[in-house]
Amino acid sequence: MTTMERKNIKTLGLLSGGLDSHIAVKLMLKLGYDVTVLNFMSPFCTCTKKSDGCKSAAHMIANECGLKIKTIFMGNEYLEMLRTPKYGYGSGMNPCIDCRIMMFRQTKKVMEEMGAKFVFTGEVVSQRPMSQMRDRLKKIEKESGMEGLIVRPLSAAVMEPTIPETMGWIDRDEMLKISGRSRKPQIEIGRELGIKKEMLCSSGGCLLTDGHFAVKMKDMLEHTETADVKDARLLRLGRHFRLNEECKIIVGRNDKENIRLSRMTKDADTLIRINNYPGPDVILKGKAANGVRELAARIAARYASAPKDAEVEVEFTAHGMEPKKLTVTALSDDAIEPLRII
Ligand code: SF4
Repeated sequence: MTTMERKNIKTLGLLSGGLDSHIAVKLMLKLGYDVTVLNFMSPFCTCTKKSDGCKSAAHMIANECGLKIKTIFMGNEYLEMLRTPKYGYGSGMNPCIDCRIMMFRQTKKVMEEMGAKFVFTGEVVSQRPMSQMRDRLKKIEKESGMEGLIVRPLSAAVMEPTIPETMGWIDRDEMLKISGRSRKPQIEIGRELGIKKEMLCSSGGCLLTDGHFAVKMKDMLEHTETADVKDARLLRLGRHFRLNEECKIIVGRNDKENIRLSRMTKDADTLIRINNYPGPDVILKGKAANGVRELAARIAARYASAPKDAEVEVEFTAHGMEPKKLTVTALSDDAIEPLRII
């Protein structure tokens, strides 16, 4: 198939902003395909750093390549899936197989709407233990209704032929043979394709694979049936303490976090502030009975810039309620530690 003929073949590429999907996009463009890209975001992506003004890495790449990009945000329905993923979790709270199935189901819809012949990704066979082993790639394709329709340009030369290959839209000899966990081949190919040095080390990150984050996520899902995207975003901020089965607090670690925390307070939350010393903003989630309120106040006082044993005035504000004040001394670190979620 000539480059001119490929221009008439519409394809949809998944672009995370990491190196592998960047290579896949560059390669398919070099071969002459008509490429549109699709970017998935969730509250757990770490690949969406605002590295250039307000653009994510995926948007920067799409702009640089002159491509149309569509972004799909996976929000509350993703959190629902996260509670009981059919195929379980990886090393953290990462439900990779279910996550990919969910992404490909949505991708299928976009592919059909735009009339693309197939989808391509930056996946590398055997690179990730949970979702990129051959049998799992197949399972994901089958459950998402995308069997044979996903081309993986970085590994396609060492994989079973796809429908696009049997139809003659993809030439195996032009696909790559990368497999396994080493990143060296991608870095070399990235250089050859002219990918900028600073983009060669970028990889799409996911907080759900992080052990510390996983502990906070597990605690949230176990204790809050109504947890939503806003709650999930809060897990990225502050120090988290569980005061009892119904109540937790999040303590800001610096001014920036304090501002973000106070903006993310929901109507059902209580905002706690220190009146007579500089101190953190604290969000209290759940029922704040009297004993709990005092405990929260004493933890907040621990992180205030107050002398040891000083009396600290702590104010509680909640939607539709008169502010309440308590004067307390800081709780000791030994007493705080068992309450820390992470
Ligand atoms: S690492 Fe995160 S984003 Fe990637 S497949 Fe797993 S759960 Fe999904």
